[in-house]
Amino acid sequence: MPSTVWFTDLSARPGNSLIDKTGALLRAAGIRERTGRGALTAVKLHFGEKGNTAFIRPIFVRKVVEEIAAAGGRPFLTDTNTLYVGTRSNAVDHLNTAITNGFAWAVAGAPLVVADGLRGESAVRVPIAGKIFREVPIGAEIAHADAMVVVTHFKGHELCGFGGTLKNLGMGCASRSGKLSQHSSVSPAVDPSGCTGCGTCVAHCPSGAIAVVAAKAAISPESCIGCAGCIVVCPEGTVNVNWNEASSTVQRKMVEHALGAVSGKRSSSLFLSFVTQVSPYCDCYGHNDRPVSPDVGILASDDPVALDQACVDLVIRASGIDPFRATHPSVDWSIQLSCAEELGLGTRTYRLETL
Ligand code: SF4
Ligand code: SF4
Repeated sequence: MPSTVWFTDLSARPGNSLIDKTGALLRAAGIRERTGRGALTAVKLHFGEKGNTAFIRPIFVRKVVEEIAAAGGRPFLTDTNTLYVGTRSNAVDHLNTAITNGFAWAVAGAPLVVADGLRGESAVRVPIAGKIFREVPIGAEIAHADAMVVVTHFKGHELCGFGGTLKNLGMGCASRSGKLSQHSSVSPAVDPSGCTGCGTCVAHCPSGAIAVVAAKAAISPESCIGCAGCIVVCPEGTVNVNWNEASSTVQRKMVEHALGAVSGKRSSSLFLSFVTQVSPYCDCYGHNDRPVSPDVGILASDDPVALDQACVDLVIRASGIDPFRATHPSVDWSIQLSCAEELGLGTRTYRLETL
């Protein structure tokens, strides 16, 4: 049976702005039924790396917040810390970046909570019936939320072809160790040329996997539990992820984490996707290149698989080509959709309802 995906284009007129249309889209997709009754509701976002301008404008997020509050819910804005060293790799930098990018309470109307804590170590291991994983680590405050509205900027991605709602769920809700296990099957590695032997990583490592010998740190792969903490605590930025997973495996692992992210709140989750400023790479970069597609519109659904399928179909239709395969020719983006469908996250068959 097809899922319903609600769609609005970017036309607007006096009395019916794009913000008004966003509210109408959310109500049509069932936000009143999926949040409310005092539910602590995670509004899962990507606040944008500092320097990036393609992330969703906070004024749209305010409308999401208002709709949740009107339904009786208690919304908070949230994301998890990044795997790599950047402007969102710990909660302090993350919140400062979010506010710099406009996600202050005065604009968005809701408090900010970093879902996996100060250094990305606050996670709940959620049991799942995956083909690769039997449990996945999800940012604790997302796992503990009663309801979730996932707000996504649909764009290209170098490992997944496109980054949509499934990526916002799977990669975006995973704690740092979950992100590491999606990208790599081996432990991080120290580049000795940058190592000063300061020992910060040794003090931080929860499994005693790092030793400093002759003023250079080395990681024992046998002892490493893959928490990824050493990557972000190193003051020299000389501990690196071994980016060794193939795109197909990253996509499979990602959707298994997405399954964990919605676990326990499948009936209290809603997904909203902005197909605008479709940049070739993800918003984790501190810049965004020119769009690879014309702007398409805004979509919402209670089915994350149907929503991503509809977004990619509309991009291809508007572009006249598949800009994601053109930009990332070695990546088959359909893997994330077929794997998610196999896992029961949703269906690729949908009915588009235009508002
Ligand atoms: S990833 Fe975690 S467990 Fe592994 S070496 Fe680094 S700090 Fe230690
Ligand atoms: S924290 Fe970085 S610089 Fe310090 S010992 Fe570890 S790898 Fe070397």
